[in-house]
Amino acid sequence: SKPIVAIVGRPNVGKSTFFNRVAGRRISIVEDTPGVTRDRIYADVEWLSHNFTLIDTGGIEPDNGDVIMSQMKEQAQVAIDTADVIVFMLDGHYEYTPADEEIAQMLRRSKKPVVLVVNKVDGTDMPSHFYDYYNLGIGEPIPISSVNILNFGDLLDIIVGYF
Ligand code: GDP
Ligand code: MG
Repeated sequence: SKPIVAIVGRPNVGKSTFFNRVAGRRISIVEDTPGVTRDRIYADVEWLSHNFTLIDTGGIEPDNGDVIMSQMKEQAQVAIDTADVIVFMLDGHYEYTPADEEIAQMLRRSKKPVVLVVNKVDGTDMPSHFYDYYNLGIGEPIPISSVNILNFGDLLDIIVGYF
């Protein structure tokens, strides 16, 4: 069976936008306003003759910090239990949060391959806090822009390199 790649991360970092761009279809709902309930969404992806299943862990987009945290933990646990490679996505506009640190710790302990992806790096300038992301302890942060489809090739090469 095909390898499974799951995307996890805080609400609004751009998981569904990335998913839709990679899937090449608009399958997953992108919301500017939180509060929409969705199911987990799957797409078949082919990259350089590698086939895999990509999962967008959308779910509820809560506006309450405790609910966000518990949902992120649940997403991370589903990814740990089911995925072969986990994409942990951050929003490059912001520094990482305590919630991100907690998820990073869960993912590190799982021993699964994790790719740290920094989305919304839309131009050529890196955010000034970019190198702080190394402190999450899950390796090199990979900058991408899902809106501009920047650096997808490098990221997909890294992902399929774990299969
Ligand atoms: P999710 O909650 O993690 O699934 O995030 P969404 O994919 O729904 O995106 C949340 C918001 O971020 C939307 O307004 C997107 O248009 C925006 N967004 C997603 N990717 C990018 C990106 O690469 N650059 C910028 N500037 N905005 C993005
Ligand atoms: Mg989403």
